[in-house]
Amino acid sequence: MKIASIASGSNGNCYYLENDDDAILVDAGISARQIVERMTRLGLSLSKLRGVFISHEHSDHVRGVDVFCRKHSVPVFMTEKTYVSYGRVVSNTLLNFFSPGQQVKIGNICVTPFLKSHDAVEPCSFSVSSGNRNVAVMTDIGFECENVKAHFKNADAVFLESNYDDHMLKTGFYPAYLKKRIASDKGHLSNTRAAQLAMQHASGRLKHIFLSHLSANNNTPQLALGAFKHFIEQRSDLKLEVMLTSREKESSLVCLD
Ligand SMILES: [Zn+2]
Ligand SMILES: [Zn+2]
Repeated sequence: MKIASIASGSNGNCYYLENDDDAILVDAGISARQIVERMTRLGLSLSKLRGVFISHEHSDHVRGVDVFCRKHSVPVFMTEKTYVSYGRVVSNTLLNFFSPGQQVKIGNICVTPFLKSHDAVEPCSFSVSSGNRNVAVMTDIGFECENVKAHFKNADAVFLESNYDDHMLKTGFYPAYLKKRIASDKGHLSNTRAAQLAMQHASGRLKHIFLSHLSANNNTPQLALGAFKHFIEQRSDLKLEVMLTSREKESSLVCLD
């Protein structure tokens, strides 16, 4: 499998996963034009793309979906409740529903959506498998629920939310209600919580962590990486690469074989 972040952050998310024959995107929270530009820079072709899987209806995950999928005839996958809440119309020929916990097969790619804790109608994370490789895409998680832990343990690579630095959130300019929402069990995962999750649940097979969905206002790349430094020192048994993602540009394409 090969994987990349096309965009990641609190203002736009899109993740790319492929095997030799097929590819999918998780979320399309940037414009259709930007998705194509960034995929092209990575040498990726739209012709391999079999679907876009939507995690939940927040705009940083769905902003580009309708234009991208209509223009390039790419099927869309989401839960029925998410579709109702999304509120725009996707043509019947492109729209597919999945249920949390129910696997979706696309060629030799197997996508398992699973429920997560977040303030959306039916928010899902995904475990994406091909051959003996598993990749988990987990952003917008209020806390490390049992689903998150189980899929984290089973992963060779993870796009893991590392949303905010506790001190920056506490002392920043956001209104109190918003600070409370972000830090709640239905909000986002902090750098510290993300690093703790990794330290406690990484198995020997984990090779790559992409620090994802960093807040533009309550985090910095240095602080997110800093939180993971301690984790890496504690788990010197792992041969692990921790990478940053960006809202401005795509990551490199990482090969899991
Ligand atoms: Zn969200
Ligand atoms: Zn989000």
